[in-house]
Parts: sequence; structure tokens; C-alpha cells
Amino acid sequence: MPRNELNLSPHSNLFLSPHPDDLVYSAFAAVTRYAGEADAIIFFNSSRFTKWGLLPKKIVTATRTLEEKLILSRLGLKSSFVWLNDSSCKREQVESREIQSHIPRDSWRIGKVFCPLGIAGHPDHVALRDAAVEYWLKAGRRFHLFFYEDLPYAERIDNVDTELRRIIITLSKSSATLSVCYWPLNTKLFERKLFFSTLYVTQNDQRVLLKRHGRVLGRICGSPFAERYVYAEGVKDVPIA
Ligand SMILES: [Zn+2]
Repeated sequence: MPRNELNLSPHSNLFLSPHPDDLVYSAFAAVTRYAGEADAIIFFNSSRFTKWGLLPKKIVTATRTLEEKLILSRLGLKSSFVWLNDSSCKREQVESREIQSHIPRDSWRIGKVFCPLGIAGHPDHVALRDAAVEYWLKAGRRFHLFFYEDLPYAERIDNVDTELRRIIITLSKSSATLSVCYWPLNTKLFERKLFFSTLYVTQNDQRVLLKRHGRVLGRICGSPFAERYVYAEGVKDVPIA
């Protein structure tokens, strides 16, 4: 598998996504904030999963990858794909080292990295999160590491706050002091997020779940809607916000 040849600019930001669609569902506020200043890597884009059930891998992978490429490009993100099999395909367990080998080596250029929090335990999300944490530690914590809350899973589980605390405690043991932050979205921006979520025509319509979750988080920070992130501060002299 070839390495990603991303040409990172100084203080570039990096979005790590398990599947096509995760960044729009879960980190839309950050994506729009860093449009034009960030790159995205999508790891498990080889897939059979569609809203019509499992279909032939070649067709589904090509369609989902194209969907994601066009959508992220419209949002101002340059994307690259790793083509690992997602959990809907037969596969060996993916090693953390393998995932990390596709993250650009020049981490000194990176300001912020966004990766999934792994809420609800989707194996692809957890594998990417753990690899990102390992990579961050090996890189001497040189960038700020943000974990985005996995949607729509976070809205589907019974007690998301308990699960969030459990994950934070687990991650704190190995990596750092973690903080929770809420990223407000006004109604116009949230409507835009919902619109972009509908562009994934091969996937289920998640607007109801996204809206319910965004509204609950918005109440916490006094905004119509919000997204929730957990972050670990790096040693780099780059502002967190
Ligand atoms: Zn996903």
C-alpha cells in the first residue's frame, strides 16, 4: 500500500476519518473552520455497506470514495484514501502500525489532528483512535489532538455521557489530560451540515439523529446546535481554538 503523499503546509491540520461520511456527521464545525487549511485521510474506504444492504465491494467502494472525494472537496478539504477493508468486508485485524504508516511523517508541520473518539466501540473507529494516540505520543505530542464524537452512534447508545466519561478515563491513563469542548453551530451552519449529510446517497438518512444530538449539545453551550470534542493539548505553540 503506498504511503499518503500529502503536501502539508506549515501548521496544517489533519482530519483522520475511518469511513467516508464520518467527518460530515461528526466534525462538520471543525471541517468548515479549517477549510483550505487542512487535509483529510480516509482509512477504511473499501466497503460493501450501503443503505440497501451489502453489495459488491468494487461498486460500493468506488461509489462511496467518489462521494466522499467530491463532498470533502466542496467543503475545502483535500482528501486521500488508504483503501483498507472496513468491517463489512472479510479481513484480517488491522495493526496499529499499519494505520500509522499512512499518517504523514512530517508531524512537525501539523497544528491539529482530528480523529474519532470511538464512542459505541465501532472497531474501525476504535482502531483509528488508538493508532492516532500512539502516533501522537511517538511524535512527542507535537500537535493538538482532537477526538470528535462518533455520530450517529453517539446518539443511538443509551447513556452517552457515561460512555464519554469511561472513554476519557481510559484514554487519560495512556495519553494525557483530556478536556471536553463544545463547538457551537448556528442554525444556518447546522442546516448546511444536514444538507451535506444527505449527499451520501448510498447511506441512510441520518438527519433526525444528527439534529436531536446537535440540539441537546447546543443547550449545554447556549447555541441552537453544537458538536462535542475531547482534546489533548500538544506541546506546540499553536492556539487550541
Ligand atoms: Zn464510521
